[in-house]
Amino acid sequence: MTSLSESHIEGNLLLKALNDDDRALVAPHLEREVYKKGETLFEAGSDVSYISFPCEQTVVTLVIAMRDGRTAETATIGREGAVGGVVSDGRLPASTQALIQIAGPVLRMEALKLQDLQQRSVSLRNLFTRYADCLLAQVLQAGACNALHPIEQRCLRWLLTLQDRIGSDALPVTHELLASMLGVQRTYLTRILRSLQVQGLIKVGRGRITILDPAGAERSACECHGSVKRHFEVVLGAVYGEAGRIVEIDPPADPGQARRRKAS
Ligand SMILES: [Zn+2]
Repeated sequence: MTSLSESHIEGNLLLKALNDDDRALVAPHLEREVYKKGETLFEAGSDVSYISFPCEQTVVTLVIAMRDGRTAETATIGREGAVGGVVSDGRLPASTQALIQIAGPVLRMEALKLQDLQQRSVSLRNLFTRYADCLLAQVLQAGACNALHPIEQRCLRWLLTLQDRIGSDALPVTHELLASMLGVQRTYLTRILRSLQVQGLIKVGRGRITILDPAGAERSACECHGSVKRHFEVVLGAVYGEAGRIVEIDPPADPGQARRRKAS
């Protein structure tokens, strides 16, 4: 297997946050793939054999398709996280489709291998448990948001979430993509975007939406984006920060390990 450079691994903030011991455990089992927009990591109902870590600006969305062909996004995952086998022990069927929304590199490893490594490292297990909690928080908040908040605010929530994931105000999204993510008709979405543009919050270009006023967009969005972001910050420390490295993941669940660590 080709060995990966530190910069490849640090393209994903969850991997970047691993302590040195865990990084040494995980790194030999990672492989790098580059995906195009529209490719799928897995289909709903298929076995999830790999856990994938989107790197740099790569973005994956978990999409539910209904029998009538309509789709809606359930979670958007970028360099802050991982896709597939995060909660389950691997090799279980996927409940959603995982679609590459923004092309780029992904590091992946066998889900069963990660499960095995988590048995050997409390801190590694702890990091993934914390990330699973954050991913669940994101999905739960989206459920409430979709039920209670108007489409204009949901649209801003999605754009702000994407802005966090790729670290840029210029978002490579088309009307078609945004409409399918939000589960609305394209013509209706165009009206929403026009209204946000008139308010000076965004600029709609060809294949691109730019957030012109991030603070204003945050104020005009519902509280859901801020709530999820705060949850990530509390639970995963500095994963969203510039430094990327989590300072304090523990206290460890295994008191014996704490003692051994102290003694070493
Ligand atoms: Zn909301």
